[in-house]
Amino acid sequence: MLDKDLFLLAKGSGRYVAATVALSVAAMLLNIAVTACICSVIALAAAGAEGREYLLPAAVAIACVVLRAPAGIAVNRIKARLGAKIRKELREKTYDKIVALGVRTTEEMSMAGLTQVSMEGIEQLDLYYSSYLPQFFYSVIAPFVLFAICVSVDWRTSLVLLACVPLIPLSIIAVSKYAKKIFAKYWGKYTAMGDGFLDGVQGLKELKIFKADARYHEKMNAKAEEFRKITMKVLVMQLASTTIMDLVAFGGAGAGVALALTGVSGGYLSPTEALFLILVAAEFFLPLRALGSAFHVAMNGASAGKKIKSLLDAEPPVWGDGEAGDGDIELKGVTFSYDGKRDVLKDVNMTFGKGMTAIVGKSGSGKSTAVGLITGALRPSAGKVLVGGKTFEEFSRESYYSRLAVVGYNTYIFNESVRENFRLAKRDVCDEEIYAALKKVDLDDFVRENGGPDKVITEDAGNISGGQKQRLALAVNLVADKDIYVFDEATSNIDVESEAVIIDNIRELSERAAVVMISHRLENVALADKIYFLKDGKVGESGSHAELCVKCGEYAELYNTQKSLENGYLGFAKGGA
Ligand code: ADP
Repeated sequence: MLDKDLFLLAKGSGRYVAATVALSVAAMLLNIAVTACICSVIALAAAGAEGREYLLPAAVAIACVVLRAPAGIAVNRIKARLGAKIRKELREKTYDKIVALGVRTTEEMSMAGLTQVSMEGIEQLDLYYSSYLPQFFYSVIAPFVLFAICVSVDWRTSLVLLACVPLIPLSIIAVSKYAKKIFAKYWGKYTAMGDGFLDGVQGLKELKIFKADARYHEKMNAKAEEFRKITMKVLVMQLASTTIMDLVAFGGAGAGVALALTGVSGGYLSPTEALFLILVAAEFFLPLRALGSAFHVAMNGASAGKKIKSLLDAEPPVWGDGEAGDGDIELKGVTFSYDGKRDVLKDVNMTFGKGMTAIVGKSGSGKSTAVGLITGALRPSAGKVLVGGKTFEEFSRESYYSRLAVVGYNTYIFNESVRENFRLAKRDVCDEEIYAALKKVDLDDFVRENGGPDKVITEDAGNISGGQKQRLALAVNLVADKDIYVFDEATSNIDVESEAVIIDNIRELSERAAVVMISHRLENVALADKIYFLKDGKVGESGSHAELCVKCGEYAELYNTQKSLENGYLGFAKGGA
């Protein structure tokens, strides 16, 4: 009923929980005192007491009622403060972890899953800590406190009431195994539905073009239906377990009432003592009954908590504190595996210095994995990655990233103005610098004619073409003025003119910076100082384009195949025209 992992996840919340429990017990004692006062007033009335004799119990009762209100308010305030603290801490931790994991995050958990867990999941967890945990401790303590009070009135009734109390947690435990499974499934279906929805919205254009939207609609409906069914299962389970707990709670209280009445008829209990026991009998069970209701909320939070914990437990790549070395990037005898089973890179040796170095190879040969290793997002299972002779553990990510730029095939452009996108790369960039960079990528006229640097780029760069987007991404990175540039398929899927502009810039850059170029199109890397041809995760061949062509190996074969395919296409295009 208590999860150790979740307990540890919210370290430092103990004093809030302790304060809530202490105040709840105090409020309960005040309630009991009011009940006792009422009973004594009845006893006084039965004995025909005079007016003055009622003063003391009446005054005590009023004092208790007056004190009870602030205790209740304080409990709610502390719970709210604890909830806010937990939400803030967990969101910060999750955010920090996402940042620390860097580019790996989205591979291990989908974007929709991350959003759901860090928003709604943490909201549910808040209830676990602020409602369930204090209620848990309170419901364990309360029956014993009540027993200690009632035992002086009648030990038999008190013992029966206390003995019936564990039946509630037993019934909770009985459903908890089943509940755990259902809640794990519930979250699974929930995130799957979120993923599907996001996927559908993002791929709406493709779905429409392929006329596959109706099919996707049905798929989405099926996912929604599965989610509805699991939600209903959760509700049915909650209702059933509440009914069971009610039976136990009221059954137990009933047993106590029956015993108290037997005490009156047996002559060993006065009617007022029996009345007191009858009035407090339900109090034995109510805290645990409330715990049972909170339990389902807690289970939901616990499932979300497990996901948050697995994210928080993911080992981020280790970085050091020093300055990154100013020298070549070297992969020395690097072996890498994503899953610990299959080696994606095997004993790879590569060096990237000033000038252009290319990594080529067929799809799946390990090019992007090599980029991950160069950027420090992935770490080798064996061998070393060195920057200026230092490992990543020796220098800070900030110092390395202040020298490194990565332009991928789908570099993100923010839904902001052109100027704001440039300001990400250089805070104090001026319009002259922006236009100079835009000129290099042949976008200056386009931007000038379309609202200048204040032109807002819509989400996912929807209001510019793919080629323009890639050229803009390059211009932003040019302004950043780094000394290591990694181009990972930066010219994939764009128009020929944009490709030529980008390649020209990359060549120019390679005269002053270290350029690592990943391209499946070998024509683009022919000018590189050195080319590494990857095959099945190994460096199959390496050398300049001329050297590799002379070798007549697999590189030359792939180059010639691509060339003849392109020529064939051109011939076809000309013939067709
Ligand atoms: P390339 O960039 O040359 O196409 P990659 O480096 O992307 O190749 O992939 C190399 C191999 O690693 C492929 O077999 C691919 O399936 C596998 N791979 C890539 N990314 C992951 C990942 N996140 N988890 C598991 N396997 C991966």
